[in-house]
Amino acid sequence: MIPVPGFEGRRVAVFGLGRSGLTAARALKAGGALPVLWDDSVSSRMQAEAEGFAVEDLTSADWSGFAALVLSPGAPLTHPKPHWTVGKAKAAGVEVVGDIELFARAIAALPEGKRPAVVGITGTNGKSTTTALIGWVLKQAGEVVHIGGNIGIGVLALPAPTPGAVYVIEVSSYQLDLTTTFSPTVAILTNVSPDHLERHGGMEGYVAAKARIFTNAWVSLVGVDDSWGRDLASSLRAAGRTVGEVETSEHEHELHPRGPLHHEDHPRHWIPNGPVTAMGRKLVFDEIEMVDLTSARSLPGRHNAQNAAFAYLAARNLGIDHDAVVQGLLTFPGLAHRMEEVGRLGRVRFINDSKATNADAARQALSSYERSFWIAGGRAKAGGIDDLEDLFPRVVEAFLIGEAAGPFAARLGDTPHRISGDMASAVKAAAEAAAATGREEVVLLSPAAASFDQYPDFEARGEAFRAAVLNLGATPSGHG
Ligand code: ADP
Repeated sequence: MIPVPGFEGRRVAVFGLGRSGLTAARALKAGGALPVLWDDSVSSRMQAEAEGFAVEDLTSADWSGFAALVLSPGAPLTHPKPHWTVGKAKAAGVEVVGDIELFARAIAALPEGKRPAVVGITGTNGKSTTTALIGWVLKQAGEVVHIGGNIGIGVLALPAPTPGAVYVIEVSSYQLDLTTTFSPTVAILTNVSPDHLERHGGMEGYVAAKARIFTNAWVSLVGVDDSWGRDLASSLRAAGRTVGEVETSEHEHELHPRGPLHHEDHPRHWIPNGPVTAMGRKLVFDEIEMVDLTSARSLPGRHNAQNAAFAYLAARNLGIDHDAVVQGLLTFPGLAHRMEEVGRLGRVRFINDSKATNADAARQALSSYERSFWIAGGRAKAGGIDDLEDLFPRVVEAFLIGEAAGPFAARLGDTPHRISGDMASAVKAAAEAAAATGREEVVLLSPAAASFDQYPDFEARGEAFRAAVLNLGATPSGHG
């Protein structure tokens, strides 16, 4: 755990007692603060009390006595409307922060020279993969690495800082909204496309939240495939900041290497003076091939080449040498539920991309296969699968599940599809249809929708897919 200093002997309100709230309360207490906890749920309050925390009804508390409100990222700060605790905090002049901000303050309180490095990763898609990949690359290079935040372990539950350690932290836009002094050594914005707009009052608010990751960053790495990223990169550069850009290119056109890349020419903390391009399976800079990802089994697709480009630049900027970074990229074992091969049955491969909760993420998976038997649906996001129309010709047949089955069916039009309803029926029907062609085929779960209509989260949905696949007698593929 990371004790949070700065609130010694003072009362701090903590609202929302999910995992991150309880962890924040523990970290505050360890730092000498007097956390006061509250949640709408009685069972959460009982759990907090059982742990010995002060639980007080914050609706009737004296807010003038609080040094801060630590708000769960699940409670809205501004939209659709501020959570009632935010109104009370504002009225009493109490600052509102989140767990990432507490983490930032704990790091800042250390003497200079004793502060660990921090890599912060945000973006609409690719956050978790990029976070895990950077963590892996650094670990393989022998660094002491702590991975967490919006992925896996909440940031304050990670081990306490030691000099030389590196924290690799995934940060959501909700968490960034609750941050003012977060100062990552390397900050990454993978990409931006419309998502979670209801919580940010529209696209502008969403982009502004994401951009906060760069406010105090030493090195800023920005995905510039979208106009929001391009604008951000140029305004950061105009402000004199160190900026690295990553772009992707559809075409693996003929490269004309201008001589071998002399990595020794690139000092530690090397930032290219132009974009690094993820071109097919290659990472290219200034027409020079830097990395060939062909043998990186767990980084398929153009989007993963983009993630690899970020990992390359982040690791190089933390002083890892070129060969060690490449070695790490090529041996990454991959993350569950992200284009994860879960099994094989005859000539049919089953791919679990349950994490694709929006059309943009599903686009990456669909475009990675020439043909697929596509399982999609769940709780649709705004726009549904409208943006995927250009990929419909790659869909041999779609098998639709959940609330979105009807609307997705309407949108698919002439593209062969059927409404399967639930996961087990979809997997069975897709497996039979794929096997019937006698060719090498792919059954792809890439729902392009949230899971909440049928599952608690995307992990449970992915596990339901895996179970259904293995139930058919498929041979498990082993992770990676
Ligand atoms: P996040 O943590 O941002 O949700 P993940 O790494 O878990 O991102 O990936 C989520 C989904 O997005 C997966 O379906 C994956 O195939 C897709 N994806 C991964 N990286 C990218 C990227 N750089 N751009 C677009 N989509 C991506």
